[in-house]
Parts: sequence; C-alpha cells; structure tokens
Amino acid sequence: MAGITRRALLVGGGAAAGAVAVQTLEGGTIGAGTVLPGPLVDAPGDVLNDASQLSPTRVFRHVTLTDVRRDTLVEAVRRELAEAKAAGRPVVASAARHSMGAQSLHQGGVALTLDRGWLEPDQAAGTCRVSAGMRWSEVITRLDAIGFSPKVMQSNHDFGVASTFSVNAHGWPVPWSAFGSTVRSITMLLPDGAMAHCSRQENAELFNLAMGGYGLFGVIVELEIEIVPNRNLVPTFEHVAGEELGRRFIEALQADKTIEMAYGRLDVAINGFFERGLLITYRPAEDQTEVPAASGSGIVSHIAADIFRRQVGSDQVKNFRWTLESAISPALTSGLSTRNSLMNEPVATLDDGDPGRTDILHEYFVAPERFADFVRICRDVIPSSYQELLNITLRFVDTDRDSVLAYATVPRIAAVMLFSQEMSVRGEEDMARMTRALVDRVTEIGGSYYLPYRQHPTVDQLRRAYPRVEEFAAAKRRLDPGLLFQNGLWTNYISKI
Ligand SMILES: Cc1cc2nc3c(=O)[nH]c(=O)nc-3n(C[C@H](O)[C@H](O)[C@H](O)COP(=O)(O)OP(=O)(O)OC[C@H]3O[C@@H](n4cnc5c(N)ncnc54)[C@H](O)[C@@H]3O)c2cc1C
Repeated sequence: MAGITRRALLVGGGAAAGAVAVQTLEGGTIGAGTVLPGPLVDAPGDVLNDASQLSPTRVFRHVTLTDVRRDTLVEAVRRELAEAKAAGRPVVASAARHSMGAQSLHQGGVALTLDRGWLEPDQAAGTCRVSAGMRWSEVITRLDAIGFSPKVMQSNHDFGVASTFSVNAHGWPVPWSAFGSTVRSITMLLPDGAMAHCSRQENAELFNLAMGGYGLFGVIVELEIEIVPNRNLVPTFEHVAGEELGRRFIEALQADKTIEMAYGRLDVAINGFFERGLLITYRPAEDQTEVPAASGSGIVSHIAADIFRRQVGSDQVKNFRWTLESAISPALTSGLSTRNSLMNEPVATLDDGDPGRTDILHEYFVAPERFADFVRICRDVIPSSYQELLNITLRFVDTDRDSVLAYATVPRIAAVMLFSQEMSVRGEEDMARMTRALVDRVTEIGGSYYLPYRQHPTVDQLRRAYPRVEEFAAAKRRLDPGLLFQNGLWTNYISKI
C-alpha cells in the first residue's frame, strides 16, 4: 500500500468476542511488550480516536457542528444525513468521544461532532431544553447562574448531553435511576431525515430504544431534561467493611430521604484488597443563604491527582491515598460544597500524561444484596491480573423502567473501576482476559456491565447481561434498514445478533 513507511499497527474496536486484533500492516508480528502506537493506513480522511487511545479509526469525513440555533443545526444534520445516505456511507454522531470501544466511531463513515448550542430553562416546570452537543460544563455554568443544577449527570463535566442519554449514564445524585429517567423528551432526526419528537407518551418505542441506544436510531438534536435547585451540601463519612458497603449504601438512602448525593469507595491496595470501605453521603447544609458559584477543581484535587497517579505499582502510595481520603481530608476540611461544584470536575484532573499507559474504565452493576459476592469475585480476579486498579467508586442506580438496553432492571450498586493499562500487546490481551472473567462471574450473580467501555466481552456475554438485546437488534434492522447509523457497538455486537 502506497505511502506506508512505518510499522503501523491496527488496533481497532474489533477486539470483541475473541482474540485481540493486533497486526502489523506489513504482516509481521509484534512482541509482548511492544508499545501499541497510533494509526496506520495512509488514505484520505481524518483519523479519530476515543478516550481509550486504542481505537484509531480513519473516517471518510469529520464534521463539527456548533450551530447555536435549532433550525440551522437541524438543517445541517439533515444535509449530512442525505449526502451520506446518497453515497452509501454510515454516519455516527458524537460529542466528546470519551467512550472507549469505538462506540462513537466507524471506519470510512461520516463522523459528526456536535458541540455548543442553546439552553432554555423553565424554572417553574423544573426542566430545560438543551442542544444535543452541549457539554455539561456549559450546562452547569448556565444553570448555576439561575440557581439550578442537572438532576442527574456523570461525576465529570466534559461529556455531551445527548451522549449521556445515548449511553444512559449516571452519577452521584440519588435516589434516581440513570440520566434517561430525568429526560422528558428528545428530538431526533431519523434515517430518512424526518424529525421525531419522542417521549414516554409520543413515539415511546423510539424513546426507549434511543435511551442507552448508542446513536443507532437517529441523531438527537435537542433534549428536554429535568433540573433541581442547586444547594450547599455537607458530607458525612462512614467507615464500613468492604463487603458490607452495598447493603449499608441502601440502608443509608432508605433511612434518610434528605440525602442528595452519595458515593462509596473501596481500598485498592493489594495487601488489603477491598477490605476497607467508605460511604460518603451529602445532605443539604443548614445555611443556604449564600450558594457560591460552581467552582472548578481546587488545589486539593490537583494534589490528590498527583498522589492518584503515583499509585501505579505501589501499595504504599495506595495505602497513603486511602488514609488521605478517609481520614486526613475529612478531618481537615468541612467538605462543604455545592451540588454543581461536586459535578463540575474535568476528566483532565485525572490525566496521567504517560504515553505508555492508558486509563481504562470498567463498570459493573449488581443487586445490593449480592455486593459481598461481587467483592469476592473482584478479589479472585483482579489482583492476579497484570492490571493496575487505581480507583473504584460505588453509586446507587434505581430501576430503569424505560430503556430497552437497560443495565439496571432492578435497583443496582454501580461499581466504576479505573485501571491504568500498559499500552502493549500483553497489556491488551490481559485486559481482555480479565474483563471476560469479571463479566462471566458478575452475570452469574445476576449483574450486568456497562457498554461505553472496551469491547472485550463476547457477544454471548452481552446477551446474558442484556436480555432484551435481540429486541433491540430487530428494531434496529426494522427502523434503520439501510444501516445509516453504525459504530463499534453495531459492528462488533448488534450486527451479530
Ligand atoms: C473519565 C471518565 C469518567 C466517566 N464517568 C462516568 C460516570 O460518572 N457515569 C457514567 O455513567 N459514565 C461515565 N463515563 C462514561 C461516559 O458517560 C460515556 O463514555 C459518555 O458517552 C461520554 O460522553 P461523550 O460525549 O464523550 O460521548 P461520545 O463517546 O461522543 O458518544 C457516546 C455515544 O453516544 C452517541 N451519541 C453522541 N451524540 C449523539 C447524538 N447527538 N445523537 C445520537 N447519538 C449520539 C454516540 O454515537 C456514541 O454511541 C465516564 C467516562 C470517562 C472517560
């Protein structure tokens, strides 16, 4: 192939359901410790990647849409859909591309990045209309100014609002289900360019397919989301044995309905893996007379981020971080914060800046009464792997009554794990093996796993974790027969079902 001068490696999102696809373009093999470099084929079109840095994908065209008016955005998306359809090219919509397994990418496709836009609050109704690509950082800034806050969003603010609906994300706010449960309606452009207004009353099937549907049914241009008053919150820290944390989390929420946000942590040092737990619950502070403007991450977060990174390979630092987080910080500060400030954290705070490693997230959802089993599963699987677990955060997600690809069909404890992975063939293979082992064991206890991350689970594992996936696949073929909307989730999983 003309123009290829270096030994480039193909490391795509196609690693699902089997061996990790790593090959040189020259047909050679690579050694176990070889660092996985970036892309590869010299051909027209931009190479885009996602947050994993392991999904380099050459798209036909990358278009960023930043229209601040609804009608011009609709017109622009419609034009892109019509052109792509006429040329027989798939389309994928995205915002920050923080998914990690090419869910926002398609080889040779048209990549639409939606950004900015409009936000129209209705304080009396407790809702606001927001453009699909607006990032939560912007949403928080605008809502903060009028004393409001998103009802549910992730614990970082870099993501797009429609993406959050499309993966059905969740965060620290309680006692809600995922973000989709707080979305009243969406406006979406369908494969034929028609505009559909979807809610629980109107086009309900499409609404439920699009919620957690990874953009496979249309391009969302606007959402109507629920908002709540922003308030000063004060934390309470409770030490709990690791295996008890799931049960205690639920007890705390049931006993005190004033809790507005909550999360848990487990100690990740190998010498006491998941033995110590911490439950942090936030209640409204007594004094609400002055609610300060949403702050970014402070100096404390940056110092903590430095210690966070030094945990790689060191139980000593992991133990120190635990002491810092569970004892020193609570003793030194009141922890008083606003609802908005707690969610106004950029992902960049966690960035390691090491080109030889990448951060990979996993997330599992288990019933609270099976949480102790989950802890035992993790003890069996994670410490014996080659992966460095730097953090685990636990959340509560109530029953999802809407989405077809629901991961919380009953109330769940969500366990978000952040691993630092070596960007090497051995790192990737070990991660794939460990992921499949975890998914097997978690589904055996009735749990499921989250879909925006690496696509290492097998198609069979997806079927077990998402019992309605066949209905989802059938609806995709019925509602998008020309397969205009495609991405890694379609290629690696849904197309095989
Ligand atoms: C550091 C980090 C922290 C995270 N924390 C959390 C967390 O606290 N809680 C949680 O639940 N998740 C969390 N996630 C996962 C995150 O919510 C998802 O990866 C989310 O998709 C990121 O948003 P994005 O804008 O980057 O999405 P993208 O990767 O750009 O897109 C995600 C999906 O949405 C689709 N999509 C995007 N825009 C549209 C549109 N306009 N119309 C139709 N489909 C669209 C895309 O096609 C794709 O399938 C985290 C991820 C990272 C990397």
